[in-house]
Order: sequence, then structure tokens, then C-alpha cells
Amino acid sequence: MATAVIAEKSGKVVIKNIGLLLSGDIDQPILEADTIVVQDGLITAIGKFKDCDTAQADKTIDCRQTALAPGLIDSHTHPVFGDWTPRQSQLGWIESCMHGGVTTMISAGEVHLPGRPKDIVGVKALAITAQRAFDGMRAAGVGGGVKVLAGAPVIEKGMVEQDFADMAAAGVRLLGEIGLGSVKAGDEARQMVNWARKHGIQSTIHTGGPSIPGSGLIDAEVVLEADADVIGHINGGHTALPYQQVCKLCEKSSRAIEIVHNGNEKIALLTARHAMELKCPHRVILGTDAPAGSGVQPLGMLRLIALISSLADIPAEIVFGFATGNISRMRKLPQGLIEVGRPADFVFMDKAQHSAGKDLLDSVQLGDIPGVGMVMIDGLIKCQRSRNTPPAGEVPILIATP
Ligand SMILES: [Zn+2]
Repeated sequence: MATAVIAEKSGKVVIKNIGLLLSGDIDQPILEADTIVVQDGLITAIGKFKDCDTAQADKTIDCRQTALAPGLIDSHTHPVFGDWTPRQSQLGWIESCMHGGVTTMISAGEVHLPGRPKDIVGVKALAITAQRAFDGMRAAGVGGGVKVLAGAPVIEKGMVEQDFADMAAAGVRLLGEIGLGSVKAGDEARQMVNWARKHGIQSTIHTGGPSIPGSGLIDAEVVLEADADVIGHINGGHTALPYQQVCKLCEKSSRAIEIVHNGNEKIALLTARHAMELKCPHRVILGTDAPAGSGVQPLGMLRLIALISSLADIPAEIVFGFATGNISRMRKLPQGLIEVGRPADFVFMDKAQHSAGKDLLDSVQLGDIPGVGMVMIDGLIKCQRSRNTPPAGEVPILIATP
């Protein structure tokens, strides 16, 4: 499998004076530390400044008591090629989302490609090409350096186990939303999900009514029978299943419960509450389902976090975990958690200027979007004060190295 090589290395980066360190882990969402040390893109130390080896840093960042969290992971996107979406003819949407704190995007299928192939060899070729192209795009620094995990084929009738083995051998790790292609029956989907899983390919299923003319309804019975790894947009994209069916999915399946921005907002809130009450918050993961008919929202992840925290009344530090550590674990990714050995993908935030909240977490719980002051991917600074969020009260500064 071809993997593009990122030439630029971060060297040693010391990040100090962190005012609030969000871990991404909902079991221990806040860490008692004010310093992170990074070496060539990986976290090597987390702790109090005096206890960390901070000597001879290539770069030092003074957080000025602002917050640091793992970079947000958008669990559900529809990239096509490059930093372009044909759905709304927009350029630069991935880089724009990076300004909203997103450092990783996961493709739920490159379904908006005009003339998308539906014959099996074409489906496989597109998946492999998309995986390569997005990997290479990141290495080239296009799209703000966001890690776009793409090459997610939409399964079609007639595929056999060897097709999944071939794609896996070529580097494909994801399936696009089941139900967007010709495979719509539960038993047929289940067989392909099992083949995919056997070959290390993770699967997602479309849940709910049709998204756009041409797609179809997938109800709870089909979702349960298919048993994909991710119950994709459980709150619909946009049209949600009846709430009783959503509850059934939460209760009878043990798979990831994905809530998206471009879905039914009432069901999003009810699902988040239900998962808390069922004591399975670890299964809740967040995405945008953009680009879509609803467009691209560069702040979609932050908006969804603020929506769920404020209206479903869930502590903001837990909801940040739904968008980071939970996705890391449910999707077996290295990024998304602040732990030694993990990639240094970070979003630096502060409460927005003039928010009524007393601090960052309080402002999000009041429904305000935080201000992003810096975004870092693999230890490299990708933006400083975001051009898209409301201005952060305070932003981290890069201290000149002597
Ligand atoms: Zn969908």
C-alpha cells in the first residue's frame, strides 16, 4: 500500500501555560497538566511544566491559560477530490473546517463525484484512487493539512469476498454509507459487512429517510440486521427514523451511535440524552455529514458540540470527548486523545469574546461557539487565530526561539 510521506517534521515543540487540558477521554475528560511536549509530531510528555523536559525546544508556544483539546474528528463527511465539493461547487471547504478545529475527516463515501462508477471494478478503482489522492493531498499540504481518511466505496450488488480482500490489500479501510448503492437489504448488507470486517475494513450504514432524490429509506430493522460498525447519522441525514426506532437501535445494537450536524436536531438531542441514560456514552460519536444539500459548515463540529452540550444538558468536556476520544476508540485511530505516543493534533480554544459564559466550558454549555486560537496537526501549526470562529478572548502565542 502506498502511503504518502510528510516531509516536514515538527522537531521538539513545548506547549506551556495550558489553562485547561481536555483529554478527549470521557472517563477522565480534564487532565491536571499545564504542559505538553511534542517530538516530531508525537506527544512525548504531559504534565506540570517543572516536571517536563522542556530544554532545547525548536518551538515554544505560550497558551496564555487558554484551553487545549485533541483536534476534532469529523466522523461523517463526503469529500470527492481535492479541496473541492461538487455538491455545492465550493472550493477550500476542508481548509475552512480546519479553522473550525477539525484536524481529521472520515469519508462516508465519495458519493458526490459526478458520474460515480457503480460497476464493481469501477467502485474498487475509485476507492483506491480516493484513498491515495487524499493521502497524497495531505502530504502536499492542500486542505489545511487535515487528515482526510477517504476511499470509502459504496457497496453494490454482486460484490464478492475477494473484492473486499483486494481493496483491503490496496489500503482501503472504510466502506461508504451502506444503502447509498444497490445493496439495501439487511441480509445482503450483513454478508458484505462481515467480509469487510474480516479484511479490516470498517463499515457505516445510512440510517433514516433518503438524503437527496435517488437515495432511499433504511429503517431500524435493516440497520440491526446489517450490523455495520457505525450506525451512520442515527438522527437522519436529514430525515430521522421515529424516535422509538432510534431508541431500539441504541438499546439492541452495541455499535457506534453517530450524531450529525446535518440531521434532525431534535432526534440528535434525544439520542444524546438516551445514550447517557442507557449508560453507553462511549458509543456516541459526532460528525457533520457535510458537504450535503444543507451545505458545508466550517463550524459544524463546534456548532454540534455547543448544541448537544447546551440543549441536551451534557457537560461540554464530555461532548468534546464525543468528537475526539470516542471516535478514536470506536474507529481505532491513533489521533483524538491526549496521551503519550499519540499524534500532536490539537485545537487551542478560549471562550469567545463577550460570551456570557464564565470560562470556555461554561460558554459552550450556554450554547456559544468557542473561539479557536490555533490549530496544530502532527505538531505543525496550521492556523493561528481562526478566521471563522468568533474571536477567542485570548490566543496562544509562538515564542521566538533564541
Ligand atoms: Zn446518509
